[in-house]
Amino acid sequence: MNVLELDKQHTWHPYNSLPSKTTILPVKTTYAQTIVLEDGTELTDAMSSWWSAIHGYNHPTLIKALKTQANTMPHIMFGGLTHKPAVELCKKLADLSGLPSVFLADSGSVSVEVALKTAILYKKAKGQNVSKFIALNNAYHGDTLGCMGVCDPQTSMHSLYGEYMPSNIFCNIDKIGNTIEQYKDEIAGVIVEPIVQGAGGMKIHSPEYLKIARKLCTKYDIPLIADEIATGFGHTGKMWACDHADITPDIMTVGKGLTGGIMTLAAMMTTRNISDTISSSDIGVIMHGPTFMGNPLACSVANASIDLLLNSSWEQKVQNIENIFTQELQSLNNLEIVQEVRNIGAIGVVELKSDKHALTVQEFCVKHGVWIRPFGKLVYSIVSYNITNEELYKITNTLKKALKSLK
Ligand SMILES: *Cc1c(COP(=O)(O)O)cnc(C)c1O
Repeated sequence: MNVLELDKQHTWHPYNSLPSKTTILPVKTTYAQTIVLEDGTELTDAMSSWWSAIHGYNHPTLIKALKTQANTMPHIMFGGLTHKPAVELCKKLADLSGLPSVFLADSGSVSVEVALKTAILYKKAKGQNVSKFIALNNAYHGDTLGCMGVCDPQTSMHSLYGEYMPSNIFCNIDKIGNTIEQYKDEIAGVIVEPIVQGAGGMKIHSPEYLKIARKLCTKYDIPLIADEIATGFGHTGKMWACDHADITPDIMTVGKGLTGGIMTLAAMMTTRNISDTISSSDIGVIMHGPTFMGNPLACSVANASIDLLLNSSWEQKVQNIENIFTQELQSLNNLEIVQEVRNIGAIGVVELKSDKHALTVQEFCVKHGVWIRPFGKLVYSIVSYNITNEELYKITNTLKKALKSLK
């Protein structure tokens, strides 16, 4: 079977046309930090499969958890039934986040949808009919329509969807305090990606803005939603990016790294105050329930992944990655084509002045054995915490060569 030939016929890829306008590489297997292509080529992974493979690929502990669960109960509906993998996971997430009421979802976008619904229901239960949110420029919160409504209007192309698009209030992060003051009576919540904004621009922000948002949201009883889907589970050097500001949000979403990149799973966590207020009101319930909610395979792998993380020296490993990214990437600031280099934790970003180089950089890196997928002006890498120094230097050196070869 020719994978690429078939792929061209029927398979629509993310953010792409059918057939794809850009090169698609067929992958045969993965292990640790390596992606093996159909022709045997091995690529060192600089993407962690979009922030998810925090331990690297095929980690034996996670594979074992998956297989063990598969032998007894791969799936069971969650309406009216419960099971150990799910309740164990909810307990772990509650303890780790300080938010005791947990809703399991099957993708990050769905957990954000549930977060937005929860905030609206909380306000309604309190007698306020409000449904707008304050969100940030450069935000990315997922691709379903509700989520898109709180994504940066330009980069997520709101204009294409006309009246179907919810209209919200956007501001630059340095205006977050003023914006909350101005719209405090009209909003159901404030949603932010704490510290690092991901797919909407790979920006890194001071913790001060989170503190301001926390203070004002508390003052006006507005749910503060922290979308930690990308940043969570240690990517910024702390378990949660919110920890950089020593704040706890009212609602948090997690996904991506939750299962170590093996199964699709996400969760929304909130305060007892919010879940009690909704549950004891006339509204009573949250009208949401994915068919595959609490999937036992996904929950078992998530439990194993969290234990693996907590029993590892992840803080030291992420600090080491941050040091190497700083040391190796910051010098790229001197290049004419580079707008800005920024990095934190396991995340390194080189923003270029032009968006015309993304493909050239990707092709150069693949040719030299590194998998990276820049978008627009952003060349960025998120690595597994188990990456070796040798692998990390291979990534930074290849990236440096690629960027230096550009005109
Ligand atoms: C990836 C991402 C999402 C969406 O998660 P999916 O699993 O792709 O639906 C939401 N918010 C942030 C911050 C993300 O990085």
